[in-house]
Order: sequence, then C-alpha cells, then structure tokens
Amino acid sequence: MGVQVRSFKELDVADYDAVVVGSGFAGAVVARELAERANKRVLIIEKRAHIGGNMYDELDENGILVHRYGPHIFHTNDKRAFDYVRRFTEWRDYEHEVLADWYGTYMPVPFNKNSMEIVYGEEKAAHLIDKLIETFGDERKVTINELRAQDDPELSEIADFIYKNVFLYYTQKQWGLTPEEVDPSVTARVPVFVSRDNRYFQDAFQGMPANGYTPLFESMLDHDLIDVCLETEAESIFDLEFESDDENAPLAAISIKDVPIDGPIVYTGPLDELFLSRFGRLPYRSLDFAYETHDVEHVLPCGTVNFTVTEDYTRITEFKYLTGQESAKTTIMKEYSHSYDDPKTQIPYYAIINDENAAHYDRYLKLTSGLANFHPLGRLAEYRYYNMDVIIGRALALADELVGEE
Ligand code: FAD
Ligand code: UDP
Repeated sequence: MGVQVRSFKELDVADYDAVVVGSGFAGAVVARELAERANKRVLIIEKRAHIGGNMYDELDENGILVHRYGPHIFHTNDKRAFDYVRRFTEWRDYEHEVLADWYGTYMPVPFNKNSMEIVYGEEKAAHLIDKLIETFGDERKVTINELRAQDDPELSEIADFIYKNVFLYYTQKQWGLTPEEVDPSVTARVPVFVSRDNRYFQDAFQGMPANGYTPLFESMLDHDLIDVCLETEAESIFDLEFESDDENAPLAAISIKDVPIDGPIVYTGPLDELFLSRFGRLPYRSLDFAYETHDVEHVLPCGTVNFTVTEDYTRITEFKYLTGQESAKTTIMKEYSHSYDDPKTQIPYYAIINDENAAHYDRYLKLTSGLANFHPLGRLAEYRYYNMDVIIGRALALADELVGEE
C-alpha cells in the first residue's frame, strides 16, 4: 500500500482520533502503536517534505546512500527498542569505530589503551595503563572530568593530554564552549576507556537498517489508519485557546480547521515554535553539512574521523562504512557546528543543556500543563540530548499509557 500522504486542504479533521506532530522516531512509533494496538485513525503533521525526522537518508546524485541530518548509528541496551525497530526492516550488523586525527596521526576515540600506546610508545604506555587499572580497574570507563580530578602527577599528565588533544578544541567547535562550560553529561558520552576495545559504543545491540532508515519509516507508517500531511507546520494549522489572556496562562484547547482535538495530541517539534517563541527562542546548536564524492572505494580508514586538534569542521563521516554499500565511488560528509539564529534557514539539532535553558524550557512546558491530551515527546519537544533508542523507548511507554487509557 505505502505511506498515505494527504493534502491538508482536502482532509476532514473530524475523521481522526489522534494527531501526531513530527515523523521522526517519536512521532512514527506512537502513530504506529495507536493505529495498530488501539485502532485509532492517526493524522501525522510533518513540516518537512519527507518522513523520518533526522534519520532520513537517500541516495545522492552518485548513487551513494547518505544521511541528510547527521550520521545515525543505532545502538542500544534496550531489547524492547531493538526488537521493535527490527520488525519493520532487515538489519545489518555494524559496530561503529571512530579515530581522532591528531596532527595527522590516527588514534582511537574513546581514548583507550591502544590510543595510549600511539601517544606514549609501548613502554611508557604500559606503565601508565597499570596506573589507570590500579586507580579505576580494568575495562572501566572514566569521564574526562573524573580523570582530571585525580591529584596523582602521572594521572594528571594523561588527563591533561586527553583534555587538550581530544576534548578541548572539538568541544569548542561543537558547542562554542569549553568542556568546563558544557553540561558534564555531554562530555561523559565519550569516556576514557581502560580497554583495548576500539568500538565507539559498547551496547549489546548495534546495527543499521540494511536498506537505510527511510524504508524503515516507510514500513512503520504503512498502515491504513495512518495519514501523513507533509510540508505542514503545526503552528500554522493549530488554533490555540488559552485559559486567559495572561502570557503565562495555560492552554485550554487546540483545534484544527475549527474541529476541537479531544484525542491525544503528540507533539515532537520544538515547544517554543508552537507558542511562536513568546518567551524568546530556546537556544540550540545547528549544523551545516558539506558532502564530497570521490572516485575511490574509501577515503577514511573507518566510519568517522574526529578532528580534535585541527580544522574548522568537527568530524568527517564516510557513509559506506555505516551502510555497507559497495561502489567504486564514496561520499564523505564534513560537519560544521554553529549557533542557531534563524529558524527559517537553520535546523535546531542540539539542545544546549544548562539550568538557565531548562528554566526557559519549563516556562513553555507549563503552558501545556492544563491540556491533559497534549503530550510533548522527543529530543526537540523535551529539549533533551536523547539517542534514537531512548526516544523509541519513551514513545513505546507513552503508547502503552495511551492505549491503556482505552
Ligand atoms: P526528530 O528526528 O528531530 O523528528 C522531529 C520531526 O518533527 C522532524 O521530522 C521535524 O521536521 C518535525 N517537526 C518539527 N517541528 C515541527 C512543526 N512545528 N510542525 C510539524 N513538524 C515538525 N542518535 C543515535 O541513537 N545514534 C546516532 O548516531 C545519532 N546521531 C545523531 C547525529 C546528529 C547530528 C544529531 C543531531 C542527532 C543524532 N542522534 C543520534 C539523535 C537522533 O537524531 C534523535 O534521537 C532522534 O532524531 C529523535 O527523534 P525525534 O522524533 O524526537 O526527533
Ligand atoms: N567530544 C570531544 N571529542 C571527541 C568526541 C566527543 O570533545 O572526539 C565531546 C564533545 O563535546 C561532544 C561530546 O563529547 O559534543 C559528545 O560526543 P558524541 O560523539 O556523543 O556527539 P554526537 O555524536 O551526539 O554529536
């Protein structure tokens, strides 16, 4: 059958039992669950011209499968999330590896025992590795902050090296901030690993959809109770009614085309956009991507190289490693991070986690508190730094709750 794409002008809003804004994992999983488990007719509103959220991939003009909104590698310890996505497409095994380009020398990231040998030579590395094992234990992950907090001079030497050569410049490029200025949970995503394991992730389940993410979403949304309206912004079709004229007064009702929406409204876009940024825009980091196609089989030695001490881009990804595609050509992508100033031309990619921004977000969230059928969900709507598997888990949990309300 395929995904049912409808024109907004033509549809009858009264036909639907639930409205979902956004077709990334948050929106698509809830839509599928409501349709399949509760027989609900679901209308998905999506502002882009395609489904799949930031996971969207497509063939470029050279026939190479590329990710359009950043490289996406699936990894999780949540068996339910993994089993769920496996229902909709074939998967291929893939374990991501990342190398840091350190003035032209490659070393594994997360920084590990192998990286230490590259930097210090075998003999000195052996001694320092023993020290790390003594202090933290073998096969342990240590955050850069924990390592820097040690007062042993040799551990300080290692910490300083890693801080300066792995974290400092990369974080400045990515966030416009030093590692001390970003939330500790951000740098903790990439620990120092007392191990010889060169994989970027150690999760139990890792892989990639064999034919790409877009077919996975096409299969998930291929259901006769799900309709999708593309190129439609929620804020331009929602009529919001508030409890009073006070700018802090909570929402009382949402209607579309004069039809009040009484069923669940699952909103996965940025919360400030829905309220036309009345308290100012929520801060994000945005990205630009530069693609290059080369007439060789491979350009990089592995899926991603992080530029931790040089260049103005943060990393280069070579998609063929991720997708397993075979071709005599290859496409690579450089990522440039910058501030998010213009929502018309830029995309909000990374919420900037700190207390001030959390309070700013909470002001918007409070506006939704009066409307029991409104559910903000996802990396944008919750203003969090969530990986795909966490979003899938949260979407399944919300669906359980909504289906249980029957
Ligand atoms: P999204 O995928 O952003 O979907 C939201 C959808 O809502 C979009 O389609 C958007 O167009 C639509 N929308 C927004 N506002 C509106 C509106 N007002 N009206 C209508 N539609 C709207 N996670 C991993 O697990 N592994 C990775 O390797 C990984 N790599 C990443 C790389 C980058 C560069 C980034 C930024 C993120 C990465 N992530 C990764 C995280 C992953 O992208 C998110 O977990 C995932 O996208 C969350 O899904 P979502 O549905 O919440 O949001
Ligand atoms: N980071 C770094 N150097 C690296 C890799 C990561 O400084 O080589 C820091 C940086 O602040 C980054 C954060 O760790 O934003 C999280 O990295 P991750 O690879 O998880 O970022 P994502 O893939 O989500 O962009």
